[in-house]
Amino acid sequence: MRVAIVGAGLTGMSCALRLKEYADVVLFEKDDVGGLASSYCTGRYCIEKFYHHCFKSDSELIALAKNLGLKITWRIARIGYAFDGTIYPLNTPIEILRYPHLSIIDKIKLALFTLRSRRRNYSKEDERGVVEGIKEELGEEILNKFFMPLLRAKFGEYYKEISYAWLLARVAIRSNRKLNGEELGYIRHGFHQLIERMREELNIRRKEVRKIEKIGRYFEVNGERFDIVVYTAPLPTLENRIKRAAGIPEIRYQSSVCALIGARESVTEDLYWTNIADSKVFGAIIEHTHFMPFEDYGEHVIYLASYSTPNGWLFNKSEDELRKLYLKEIGKFGLGEKKINWIKIFKAKFSGPIYERGYLKKITPYRTKLKGFYVAGMTSPPNYPERSMNGSIKAGIEAAKAIVTDHFV
Ligand SMILES: Cc1cc2nc3c(=O)[nH]c(=O)nc-3n(C[C@H](O)[C@H](O)[C@H](O)COP(=O)(O)OP(=O)(O)OC[C@H]3O[C@@H](n4cnc5c(N)ncnc54)[C@H](O)[C@@H]3O)c2cc1C
Repeated sequence: MRVAIVGAGLTGMSCALRLKEYADVVLFEKDDVGGLASSYCTGRYCIEKFYHHCFKSDSELIALAKNLGLKITWRIARIGYAFDGTIYPLNTPIEILRYPHLSIIDKIKLALFTLRSRRRNYSKEDERGVVEGIKEELGEEILNKFFMPLLRAKFGEYYKEISYAWLLARVAIRSNRKLNGEELGYIRHGFHQLIERMREELNIRRKEVRKIEKIGRYFEVNGERFDIVVYTAPLPTLENRIKRAAGIPEIRYQSSVCALIGARESVTEDLYWTNIADSKVFGAIIEHTHFMPFEDYGEHVIYLASYSTPNGWLFNKSEDELRKLYLKEIGKFGLGEKKINWIKIFKAKFSGPIYERGYLKKITPYRTKLKGFYVAGMTSPPNYPERSMNGSIKAGIEAAKAIVTDHFV
């Protein structure tokens, strides 16, 4: 049997690794192998184009790394919040108590909300908007001074359409913090090593899939015959004809824009992740060299992260315009152009589904209405409430299991 997998991101590759003992598997990749988790290499080191770390609960990713002979390093990653021109670290109970923009009562309300989140049935809140939900449950102050900037940073222009269920589910999975902060993981020197080791075992063709046709029992992918197709690329890129036949709903995606900087100085003293409440350009400053050792890079590696939409103003600016915009904005945080060695802009048009109201009904099962056509990736069940490397690896594995059950046992 021949299987075509569209997309050699983590979903496609992990699916192919599981299927290759049963079938002749060909992966098609139009761009960089590794997809959203791919890296950019300077002469000295490789670094993800978009910031990446993993969590202690990422069991599929941890197992895969181990099987491929790679070790995950765990570090407490310090976070902060920039509000009205000041950066506040928000890790320990004392730092949180010192934060001046929320009252003690609001801080207690937030702490209780977080503690209770794990026991709640979030799915009941899927038709409710996140802004209404927070306002009714926690009040205007917490909405405006805490959540609103975070939602804007995470969802750009779409933030009002996000479901309250998403927030509850997301808070629940991230409520496992230690008293001094959250422990995050990374494969020292980069996740590109994981992708490279997967790639070595697979048959990947660097070709865009332009046409998929169902002809009798078979599929033709770019004119070549296959028995099974697994679509792991973003769903808006799938032809409407196939989408309709397979019964796949319309799912809206957000876009990402990231400036990656090599610099002689850092922005904050020791923070890995700083959320920015009041910048229209980027929602977070992520200092990779406050997470992994500076010596691995020989310079500070810093991301300025923004979310937009495929039609959004930010996503549609040219790289040159974006470079100027990011340089001007980061200058306000004390990192002037003279301290910057280089800057690169990375964009991803479809960087994750928008978890809008009613999204739970749209999560895509692996099997579709079109026999032999499977879908896996960022809209699969393991990628809710957060799409992640682990979610995509798990989706690839689960899709492969469904295919083995349907065709090989
Ligand atoms: C800014 C940002 C930060 C992130 N940070 C983290 C993090 O810290 N931790 C974490 O766990 N996850 C993070 N993620 C999420 C993680 O990168 C993704 O969830 C995961 O890599 C998605 O893998 P995928 O294979 O499902 O999709 P993709 O990576 O999108 O792979 C799909 C592939 O299909 C290819 N393709 C598309 N159309 C075609 C076609 N017609 N023919 C052939 N190929 C095609 C694409 O080029 C792509 O390579 C982040 C993502 C972004 C954007």
